[in-house]
Amino acid sequence: MNAFSIGDIRAEPGSKVKGFLPSEGLSMPDGTVNYWHIPVIIVNGAESGPVFEVDGCMHGDEQEGAYTVLELAKRLDPKKLKGTFVGVPVLNVPGFLTHGGVRGSTTDLMYVDMNRQFPGDPDSMSHTRRAIHTFWNEIILKCDYTVNLHGCVNGQIPRVVCNEEMPGSLEMAEAIACTPEWIMASRSEHTRLIEDTINRACTEKGIPNVFIESGSADRSHSAIMADVEVVVEGIMNCMRRYGMLDGEVRVPKIRRSTPYYTHVRGKGAGIIYPESCLRINNMVEEGELLCRIVDFLGNEIDQVKAPHDGIVIMEANQVSVGPESSICIIGYPPEIKGTG
Ligand SMILES: [Zn+2]
Repeated sequence: MNAFSIGDIRAEPGSKVKGFLPSEGLSMPDGTVNYWHIPVIIVNGAESGPVFEVDGCMHGDEQEGAYTVLELAKRLDPKKLKGTFVGVPVLNVPGFLTHGGVRGSTTDLMYVDMNRQFPGDPDSMSHTRRAIHTFWNEIILKCDYTVNLHGCVNGQIPRVVCNEEMPGSLEMAEAIACTPEWIMASRSEHTRLIEDTINRACTEKGIPNVFIESGSADRSHSAIMADVEVVVEGIMNCMRRYGMLDGEVRVPKIRRSTPYYTHVRGKGAGIIYPESCLRINNMVEEGELLCRIVDFLGNEIDQVKAPHDGIVIMEANQVSVGPESSICIIGYPPEIKGTG
């Protein structure tokens, strides 16, 4: 087993090391340089094995992944690990600090979605694209498997999204979806578009990748940590699958999957009145009323109906909806299969 390094952060075999990786900076007209430090935790096993990366908070307001990565790093014992774990608790640092949603940062001149900028560009006017270039070259290209953690705030079925055409990606998803809470999905409306996501960039490089969407509508700390626990166990099961951790690989008796999923949007902005069917894990029929949207005087603007027979994957946990904003997510067609 060899030492493993990312930038100046070097972990000898059988050790756990933490540090910050400076991203490539963008020179500003006031003479300063705009960049951020990517937090990195390396758990380098005593014995050889794959390099497994998990990153959280690529989208700044999707923050539960920070807990997940920190929890994984805490639980992994370098003396027992075979291979190397690389954890990035918060990738989009400025976005996280400002609850900045998909934006790379409030100061990003290009106002971009970080997960549409891969593999980055060291000469870009967007410092998010520069940071992505650092992340991609210094971290992702050194890894055999990568997992990106998304989602928050809205109640969601923990969902692992894979590229079914890549055997390694499907294999990872099956290992992660190891308890009954999970649903596996493969094609979202946006992953079918040609966009510069990390998922697409990893596929082109032949690096198996999945992303996980999860979130607790109940914002109490205990509920959030229960949600985090499901994801931590799923990722550790995937590491067992690749021989990095001892123990039996868990296989759920029943596996839920949905080949497609789509965001459901209303015609106008307003106040939402959800129907009782609009709760995660519920099945809905095409054309079934999901919610009504009213204006500030209570006048009905729209009736939002299910676009497909499907399963509610993410529910509306907000009072209002913006124009063209997502109200909920429907997976279709839902498939439930025994694995025995
Ligand atoms: Zn996201």
